[in-house]
Amino acid sequence: MSKIIGIDLGTTNSLVAVWQNGESKLIPNAFGEYLTPSVVSVDEDGSVYVGKTAKERLISHPNETASVFKRFMGTAKKYQLGNKKYLPEELSALVLKKLKEDAERYLGEPVEEAIISVPAYFNDMARNATKNAGVIAGLKVERIINEPSAAALACQNLNQEEDTTLLVFDFGGGTLDVSLVECFDNVIEILAVSGDNQLGGQDFDDLIGEHFIRSLQLDIADLQPETREVLRKCAEKCKRELTENPTVEMVVNCQEINGKLEISRKDIVSICAPLFERMGKPISKVLADAQITASQIAQVVLVGGSCKMPVVRQYLQHLLGRNDISTLNPDHMIAMGCGVCAGIKERSEDVKDMLLTDICPFSMGTQVINPYNQQRHLMSFIIERNSPLPISREDVYTTVHDNQQELRFHIYQGEAMYADENIELGEITVRIPPRPKGEVMCFVRFTYDINGVLEVEVRIPLTDEKKRLVIVNKELGMTQEQIDAKLKEYERIKVNPAEEEENRFVLEWGARLYAQSVGALKQEILKRLQYFEYAMAQDTYRLSKIRKYTTVFLAYVEKILGQYTGFSDEIMKDGSWYQEEDEEEKEIDALFKEWDESDEEGGSDER
Ligand code: ADP
Ligand code: MG
Repeated sequence: MSKIIGIDLGTTNSLVAVWQNGESKLIPNAFGEYLTPSVVSVDEDGSVYVGKTAKERLISHPNETASVFKRFMGTAKKYQLGNKKYLPEELSALVLKKLKEDAERYLGEPVEEAIISVPAYFNDMARNATKNAGVIAGLKVERIINEPSAAALACQNLNQEEDTTLLVFDFGGGTLDVSLVECFDNVIEILAVSGDNQLGGQDFDDLIGEHFIRSLQLDIADLQPETREVLRKCAEKCKRELTENPTVEMVVNCQEINGKLEISRKDIVSICAPLFERMGKPISKVLADAQITASQIAQVVLVGGSCKMPVVRQYLQHLLGRNDISTLNPDHMIAMGCGVCAGIKERSEDVKDMLLTDICPFSMGTQVINPYNQQRHLMSFIIERNSPLPISREDVYTTVHDNQQELRFHIYQGEAMYADENIELGEITVRIPPRPKGEVMCFVRFTYDINGVLEVEVRIPLTDEKKRLVIVNKELGMTQEQIDAKLKEYERIKVNPAEEEENRFVLEWGARLYAQSVGALKQEILKRLQYFEYAMAQDTYRLSKIRKYTTVFLAYVEKILGQYTGFSDEIMKDGSWYQEEDEEEKEIDALFKEWDESDEEGGSDER
């Protein structure tokens, strides 16, 4: 049996893990990093870039690059990249494909199956879209696991503690998920979930960016899209630096904005006050739903990059009145848990066969006549929020008119009283024999399994007729032919070898720094990049050296861009930044000079 991989398909970053030698192991990507940005970019010749390289293109090619598409999984939102349109699930498929390839390279064997984690709050459409994404990427996805279950599994696997109640606080780039998870006797059970799927680290970036712009007496609405991207990036950088230091200087230096501002952790508390307020709500909700008090929580598990912010940690300590909050790497928890889950699915001897029970994160039901307002149907709930899964529930309905010929059930998911305020999942109709109203009975059974697939069965005892409906999103459900066609299409997508990818990254990195800089530095970056491109085309045997040389230069630029608001030409002219490492670098330096000078003479076409 081939290996099963576990994937944390995040809004901002994705990770892949595998169960190996008795433990969950994260798999590095081509850059040797565990986090692969969930960003997809397409270039002129149709090549697709995923991850770090694509992320660099967010600024230089905003119209060809997509990010944060996880927020729209299961919707029909389309992303136009170049001359092609993509659904969120297709973009996710490209990320999954990349992770699959990284895993295959790492394991040295093909991978056919994956377990993918999704937020507990994902509705059916989003779950199905995630499965579709797996299929498009060439992965069998039999198991979708809720992110908090994965985090709890990782925690449980590391601590080997029995019988605890964990609060999993997952604060990522775009979403907040709060869950209460109970572990006892090899069973992991989610007691309650809540969250805010429009609250994440990016909201901090936005508010910091707006604060910065206000301090310059500018209006964010007047900025070019590229500038906004630069601003967002600088704000995020500032936020991350505040994780290390209590005060930092935020600097933005590009075509439209030139400025700096000192920002402290304390400022963040006031700038982002509305975000902190929203953060507390889902915690109160899960505690109330599960009817437990904060003091009954044995452990608080922090998950997601935004939990690294000291202000977030402090806020939680204050809110929950404790100072023993887990300090395991919040970036890795979910992927590590997906790896454990892969081990369980492979039935590895060395992993405790934990039984994962999940709960249904939302209520589901059908619409019924509202006797007081015929225009607005009411919800009749069949499965209630927070019911343990799998679950099967039946309810009985009857006709409301004389000689009714059919019964139609509209299936909804959501908590609202009026049906039309919830999400419609599908409909099912049965023919019935004409009888006076109230005389035909109909049993409706909802069965919701651990993978989040809803099966609806209606049964008319009078005629013994039965009808079944398995809910797949109308818009996104694909036929086998459509899946096959997609698979073919995606197989053709050019995969860049690791070295080519590194080159591409250097070029995109340079392009972003070019966009962020001005004056002499801008010109210097351009020259270096052109030289690098020239080397890529001509000089393959020295290419890796030149790449390193260019990387050192760009890292230097990155550093000074963060330090100064403007550059005097002097800084560039005296070349003081460059530290010679060895003879070979000197040789390359000389070659660059030679190339550079020939360029000034007008160059020649032979290059
Ligand atoms: P997702 O699960 O949505 O993909 P992640 O868990 O990867 O998201 O978290 C991404 C978010 O975490 C981003 O908003 C990022 O800015 C933030 N983040 C990452 N590292 C840090 C850090 N050191 N300090 C503060 N925020 C961070
Ligand atoms: Mg996440």
